[in-house]
Amino acid sequence: MKTRQGFVSNSSSSSFVCDVSGEGYEGWDGDYGDIRQACCANGHSFSSEYMLAEGSQLSTADKRSYMLEHGDNDRDTVAFKAATEGQIEQWWLDEWEEDYEDDLDYFDLSEAKCPICQFQKACDRDIMAYLLKHTATSREEMLTNLRREFSSYRDFLASIGK
Ligand SMILES: [Zn+2]
Repeated sequence: MKTRQGFVSNSSSSSFVCDVSGEGYEGWDGDYGDIRQACCANGHSFSSEYMLAEGSQLSTADKRSYMLEHGDNDRDTVAFKAATEGQIEQWWLDEWEEDYEDDLDYFDLSEAKCPICQFQKACDRDIMAYLLKHTATSREEMLTNLRREFSSYRDFLASIGK
């Protein structure tokens, strides 16, 4: 088998289209630079920049538990147990929140972190399904209507203001 010079054969190109912005991302092995691909339990796929923050919704007790679980040594454990709620909140902001976000499983996010599931953003697929349902129209009927109404694609674009 011939391999291209300088080509790393165990690396593969990857891409995804953000359900929120419609923007496409390309990268290698799921690495898209500054952003990460996030997916929710309902199959929405979006740039992590749109992910709803949940860290701030964690209770102080949850944060303390996370810190105790991930602390480096016995001294940490003692300090985290003895810390006031204010200290926990401060340490969380200073150095723990980022670790917590990094630890998240971006491919199985809860609905609470998905802007589409929370109806804060809409994806074209959902809008399309909603409109078809609420106009009691099927894709086929819509196509028939489009053919009847417009003599060219250009006319159609003009009618929708594009
Ligand atoms: Zn979702």
